[in-house]
Amino acid sequence: ATPTSIMVGTGRAAELGVLFRKGEALQTLKDVKIIAFDKTGTLTKGKPELTDLIVADGFSRRDILTLAGSLEMRSEHPIAAAIVAAAKSEGADGAEVTNFKAEPGFGVSGTVRGQTIVIGADRALARNGINVSAFEEEAKRLALAAKTPLYVAVDAKLAALIAVADPIKDSTPEAIKALHDLGLKVAMITGDNQKTAEAIASQLGIDTVVAEVLPDGKVAAIETLRQKFGKIAFTGDGINDAPALSSADIGLAVGTGSDIAIESADVVLMSGDLNGVARAIGISHAVIRNIG
Ligand code: ADP
Ligand code: MG
Repeated sequence: ATPTSIMVGTGRAAELGVLFRKGEALQTLKDVKIIAFDKTGTLTKGKPELTDLIVADGFSRRDILTLAGSLEMRSEHPIAAAIVAAAKSEGADGAEVTNFKAEPGFGVSGTVRGQTIVIGADRALARNGINVSAFEEEAKRLALAAKTPLYVAVDAKLAALIAVADPIKDSTPEAIKALHDLGLKVAMITGDNQKTAEAIASQLGIDTVVAEVLPDGKVAAIETLRQKFGKIAFTGDGINDAPALSSADIGLAVGTGSDIAIESADVVLMSGDLNGVARAIGISHAVIRNIG
């Protein structure tokens, strides 16, 4: 492509809310075979809500909301906001937290009212030596309904099962269809539960899911997909998406996301509208075709 055609192409893209930070990206984008998306905050709104709370014998809903809500006040994860909001809306008290610990990709733990609380994925509880089998069937049912199951332990006893659900962005189904219409494969990369991720992917017609990825595992997931499918673009919004945005052949950052994601990307989707991905690819084809 000539410098002029690239200028015209990137100019047209900008009018559609797609900002090319590097002109070469337009040429690379044309050869992409698969688009991988981060889930939370990219395919979904990134604003989960608590949908279910199942309490074990010997614990009350109110106590769980106080203990879990107080602990999650200290976390910045979107899941924490869902639990805090539920605790507040049911009028649960806030309590002091000591020994707070966040384990990225696992969950949180700390001491509340003299009790040791652990909240997180099954692997977080396993790591703390807590058996979750009593709630395994319920958790599976919730995950198949596209909800994220989280376990709560109090003094190493399984105390509750919480589910949160994160609504899909309005633009997501259309954006995925447009990519399929261009003949591309679509993948999802997430730290979320395998079954939850599969349920969401199947609702959206996503071809490939890589789930239960730890925060530093996204680059390896990109590499695996690249080996299987070829040139890969990755779209993400978070701080922990920055390495994957750099290591993909093309990184597209959601403009409403973190500054670090935007700085690591080749392309920025200004409004967060995922239709920008297919638009950018459409323009890359047009520009390269027109000048041969
Ligand atoms: P993602 O960005 O895909 O949600 P993360 O690595 O941030 O992936 O989180 C993976 C999983 O770790 C979550 O689905 C949840 O099970 C658990 N987790 C992380 N932080 C918290 C938290 N503050 N409270 C409860 N669970 C958490
Ligand atoms: Mg995200």
